[in-house]
Amino acid sequence: MTPPVSGPIELIKQKLDIVEEIGAVVPLRKSGKAFKGLCPFHGERTASFYVFPESGTWKCFGCGEGGDLFTFVEKQQGLDFHDALVHLAERAGVTLNARSSEEGPAPESAETVARKRLRALNEAAAIWFHSQLLQATEAQYARSYLDSRGVNNGSIADWRLGYAPDGDHLARYLLGQGYSEQELTEAGLARMRDADRGAGMYDYFRNRLIFPIRDGAGRTIAFGGRELGSGQPKYLNTPQTPLFDKSATLFGLDLARDAIRRGNRVIIVEGYMDVIVPYQHGTRNVVACIGSAITEKHIRQIKKLTRRVTLALDPDAAGESATIRGITVAQQAFDRVAIPVPGPAAGDTRARKRAAPEGIVRFEEQVDAEITVARLPVGEDPDEFVRRDPAGWQRAIEQADPLIDFLFDAQTADLALNTPQGKMEACKRLLPIIAEVRSRTLAGEYADRLAMKLRLDVKDVQRDLALARQRLDRETRSTPTRAPVQEPPDLDDEPSDTAQKSHGAQAQAGTTYRDAAHAPPEVSQEEYCLGLALDHPEIWREVRAILREDDFTATETRALFVALDRALGGDAAPGLEAFLAGLEPALLATVERARARVALQAEREGPALLNEASQAAYRLKRMRLKGEQAELDALIREAEQTSDSETLRALLTRKGSLLAQRRVIDEASQLQG
Ligand SMILES: [Zn+2]
Repeated sequence: MTPPVSGPIELIKQKLDIVEEIGAVVPLRKSGKAFKGLCPFHGERTASFYVFPESGTWKCFGCGEGGDLFTFVEKQQGLDFHDALVHLAERAGVTLNARSSEEGPAPESAETVARKRLRALNEAAAIWFHSQLLQATEAQYARSYLDSRGVNNGSIADWRLGYAPDGDHLARYLLGQGYSEQELTEAGLARMRDADRGAGMYDYFRNRLIFPIRDGAGRTIAFGGRELGSGQPKYLNTPQTPLFDKSATLFGLDLARDAIRRGNRVIIVEGYMDVIVPYQHGTRNVVACIGSAITEKHIRQIKKLTRRVTLALDPDAAGESATIRGITVAQQAFDRVAIPVPGPAAGDTRARKRAAPEGIVRFEEQVDAEITVARLPVGEDPDEFVRRDPAGWQRAIEQADPLIDFLFDAQTADLALNTPQGKMEACKRLLPIIAEVRSRTLAGEYADRLAMKLRLDVKDVQRDLALARQRLDRETRSTPTRAPVQEPPDLDDEPSDTAQKSHGAQAQAGTTYRDAAHAPPEVSQEEYCLGLALDHPEIWREVRAILREDDFTATETRALFVALDRALGGDAAPGLEAFLAGLEPALLATVERARARVALQAEREGPALLNEASQAAYRLKRMRLKGEQAELDALIREAEQTSDSETLRALLTRKGSLLAQRRVIDEASQLQG
């Protein structure tokens, strides 16, 4: 009934971490559930600028500025809503819809058209593979293989598993559907025959069980094929294509997303079966890296959902250095959200920071990423383990070891740790890994634990750690290209139906909400006020006398308020149609919802309408002040507990003015009502 909410805004909030984004501009440090720093909008020496990751908002209790990521970008970079939306969409890799005007949508670029065809091609291939598995006689072996691995029909349908017969059947089918040889090659589905072997194409996947690989939004972008005969390699994946980047794709993420968010944990496994079988048995927060190594790109997608990662890897492979390398990279990808904090300095830390940016200390340990490693029975893959012993699998996940303990064991399994040689070798292997942990505090702790485990003098190990770190510094300095902190957005992150349907995004998305039923009361009230103004522009002066931009807590309603103010504040107000034609398309859904809220109310006119408008505005203002007070009270309690007297004083001043404002509002609305 209610129109879908403007997708791009919600998607951007899901993809960008407000602490990370603001932290790149304002040095922040953790303070209870919030992050705190010096306000960039007014000069101050005591931090009263807070960022709240849970609600996706920020607030300065010194100058009263506040809002969400959009407002921050607008204010900090001096942009209007539209330009902030474009800027953030680009950062998040979200595609904005072109304005739908009378001339129709803007013509698509050749690249967009090509990508669309490639998607359609993958989709057609997935359907074809699937129907082969279900129907073809030669797929009998594939079907019985799945049966023997305990994969039921429900899973075959959920994952749309398929079968690729021998020969060139798929190529011929797709060419018949109007795709070109070049497109088939580009999609990695078929190859041209060598000239001496005759004309035509042959299929890339032959006599294989097919696992369609989908992006986070559930669109098929590639395939994995498992050999069913004795051919090599055992597993074959689609090569790199414009849609598929192996190092950025997590198999199963589209189906696991909600479970990961709900359970606040992701389990990373190695193979397709290790995702499919646990999923069938109820463990739904499982994803697999394609090609085994965990990369930063993988972690970037995961860390929007959870910071708790459990690795369930084949125990033989887990000890290998490539895997350990990958895990270290993974941990650093989390660390990269590090909140920079200015070093201890006398006097004005802001001026100092500007003068000497290298004086900034990083406190990575404030990022609570938790990587654990599940100990699986030797010689057993997760899918086998789950089937044999579901309770044991659960236990292994719940009792997974902290990463560092696992690394100690994996790296020293072959050493005699009671001999001096064994101890020396253990240090030689482990200290370079520990040196890569960017947090000095955390690295120091690890070194202490290593010393304890090896029964060595803590000071000696710490000294060796310092040496290892120096060596690492020299190496990294001589490497000219370091990974940039801001990486280009992922390719496959355009908004899509599937992405919008995924529930549970609210906690992360902060003030964005999905539909009328999900809207918090303030937002309903915000929409109601705006709806009144849209239908009756003559009430704008009443509303405007009471409300400011900051009183709107949702990104959409606030932007709509600003747009209305611009349109109705002048002398010649445009008609509704002209107003809507000029409005940012991402806000049109909010307009519809706002008007729907008014339509539910009794029709008023004249003085009754004016009175209703100002009462609605007062209600909204009161709700907002109440919300801010609750936030403030929590911070005051925290400051009391930590005996932070300077912060406490600033917060109490703010509370005083808040209470005064509430009294004014209460009196004014009684006077009127
Ligand atoms: Zn401020």
